[in-house]
Amino acid sequence: GRVLVTGANGYIAAWIVRTLLEKGYRVRGTVRTEDKGLGLLKIFERFGKSFEIVVVPDITKDGAFDDAVEDVDAIAHTASPVNFSTEDPQDLIRPAVQGTGSILRSASQAGSKVQRIVFTSSTAAVLEADPNPRTFTEENWNDLSVAQVERDGKDNLPITKYRASKTLAERAAWKFVEDNEAVIKWDLVVMNPPFVFGPITHDVPTPSALGLSAGQFYNIVVNHSSEGGKTPEELRSTGNCWVDVRDLAEAQVLALQKDSVANERVIISAGPVVWQEWLDVANSLAPTYLPSHPNLPKGFPITSSDPKIVHQIQYDTSKADRLLGIKYRTKEDLIKDTFVDYEARGW
Ligand code: NDP
Repeated sequence: GRVLVTGANGYIAAWIVRTLLEKGYRVRGTVRTEDKGLGLLKIFERFGKSFEIVVVPDITKDGAFDDAVEDVDAIAHTASPVNFSTEDPQDLIRPAVQGTGSILRSASQAGSKVQRIVFTSSTAAVLEADPNPRTFTEENWNDLSVAQVERDGKDNLPITKYRASKTLAERAAWKFVEDNEAVIKWDLVVMNPPFVFGPITHDVPTPSALGLSAGQFYNIVVNHSSEGGKTPEELRSTGNCWVDVRDLAEAQVLALQKDSVANERVIISAGPVVWQEWLDVANSLAPTYLPSHPNLPKGFPITSSDPKIVHQIQYDTSKADRLLGIKYRTKEDLIKDTFVDYEARGW
């Protein structure tokens, strides 16, 4: 079959493209400019004609994806702003929501073969900021960030604006399905991953050009000069949950294939982590896998006599286990392969 991947030059999407190609699918990727398309064609050159590019300059335009959806059996929609430096929350919300509307409309009107759409939402659309430790499930919705953005507009934290954009985009997707149930021939699957880390497979010239999550990882785990701006206390107390980008890509492929997951939202998380745990694993593996960085940030290593770490945010991942049966990589796997990747890039 042929799968359309939107925002194909992104961190996560490039792994989805690669995983699909390795499993024998034909893939069409959308990008915003010809240049980005050429870069991707080069990266996936070894797959020959199985990979092609369509340029969609403005995903918010009605009919933007009409050509792109022609003759595809499934769609993985990932294109959405992941950007914490914008003032106006609408800079995130508009492309997230309208981009979702336009791909779903194009699929319904011009995608006569489309059977399934896998939409990359986020745990940003699930969790509600809470001072107390909490475990969230797919039943939870982050309407709090939406309300905060409606109330305080640009005065919100960047993460709140981003979370609102993801919540509103996912809500829009489910509403589209509900409103068009009688006519659409495809079903929707929503993936809700937390922080996504791991090696990169797309074109990134320097660490400073990494996307948000992979960039934060590099800054905190490797890049001494900043340590990501976190104090040792914060390194031990903050971190959220994580998933390896390659496991998320595998999950997306399973989500395209399995009947049981139709019209479900699914949290894809390997578990909770605080930043200090990454530092500890990194320091134990760096001599072998990242020899060019002999002195990584150490923070305050966690010892067995420390009180148990409290994870503020956890997810119940039993639904993913049941419906998709994902095997998650470990933190050690992630760090090893990420360091090998940095080393190969001369970072
Ligand atoms: P990247 O920034 O690496 O990729 C984002 C992709 O979306 C790029 O192709 C980008 O195109 C495209 N895009 C961004 N803004 C727009 C816009 N206004 N119009 C059209 N296309 C746009 O991000 P990730 O790979 O990290 O994220 C991909 C998806 O996964 C997003 O939906 C994100 O919300 C979600 N996600 C990410 C997590 C993470 O930790 N990284 C966690 C949970 C969910 P261009 O290069 O042209 O800007």
